[in-house]
Amino acid sequence: MLARERSREEWRDLLAGAVTDPLRLLARLELSAHPISRRIVAAPAFPIRVPEPYLACMTPGDPDDPLLRQVLAVADEERTVAGFATDPLAENGANPVPGLLHKYRGRALLIAAGGCAIHCRYCFRRHFPYADNNPGRRGLESALDYLRSHADIHEVILSGGDPLLLDDDALDWLLARLAGISHLRRLRIHSRLPVVIPQRLTPRLLDLLTGSRLRSVLVLHMNHPRELQTGLREVLEPLRRTDVPILNQAVLLAGVNDCVDTLVTLCEQGFDAGILPYYLHLLDRVAGTAHFEVEEERARKLYDALAAELPGYLLPRLVRERPGDPGKLPLAPRFQ
Ligand code: SF4
Repeated sequence: MLARERSREEWRDLLAGAVTDPLRLLARLELSAHPISRRIVAAPAFPIRVPEPYLACMTPGDPDDPLLRQVLAVADEERTVAGFATDPLAENGANPVPGLLHKYRGRALLIAAGGCAIHCRYCFRRHFPYADNNPGRRGLESALDYLRSHADIHEVILSGGDPLLLDDDALDWLLARLAGISHLRRLRIHSRLPVVIPQRLTPRLLDLLTGSRLRSVLVLHMNHPRELQTGLREVLEPLRRTDVPILNQAVLLAGVNDCVDTLVTLCEQGFDAGILPYYLHLLDRVAGTAHFEVEEERARKLYDALAAELPGYLLPRLVRERPGDPGKLPLAPRFQ
């Protein structure tokens, strides 16, 4: 088997082998007898999913591991908390055709795949009706028609779910059609997949990103510096030698990264790996995620401290998203 084919098989095998049973996850981390095992949700509506490269970066025996906290469904998720809703960003109202969100001027978001390689417990789309928005190749045609008929859209964001769940043949098909829409100039791919299964960055995917008429931008999603240790650093090497910008967006999460040292390390080590900090999001107030919230006042203090530690080009923008706004709302540090 050629090396290219081997890497294609490898990421798919890792995806298929992801841990989906919370008890198995705890057993792997030597936590079966720990009190945390009595706080898990055995069969959550949003099931757990943890691929092996991500699991391998957790510390056995640590119930507070920041990577484990992002993926383990615990009883806190079942609390009803005022102000936390199933569609906090009112995205269902910005969904003109299945598979496409048009919220902001000049750009549209294409839900290219209706699933993810990992299930992040804080995800703002954990209640999103993916089943109604996962149209497949034929259904994507109506989203492409929408893009063709809106000449004011210059940038397409492939999101999801995770768009890199599409295999390279499907991406090739989609990118060719997008490149054929003359008013499109940029292609942005939002993905957490290379972070949790670095093998997804196949040589062919690199060719697709660098070979398109559209200017490509890859936006990763990492919340903790240990997520660089999945093998991500190594697979980014060839990409960082190209002209494709690699950015990172993180979510500020209680018990995961709500600490200046952790955020500084994330930004600095990310940059060493060729990734520029882009956004630090305040949590979207989605039902089941209140235990991850960092209050805005505390977030601002953390951000001030972060700004005091980092040069301006390494400082992500602290933002909050609000339904109906024309863009994300930036919360500036007091000093820059
Ligand atoms: S990978 Fe992204 S879209 Fe998928 S569950 Fe995690 S945060 Fe949500």
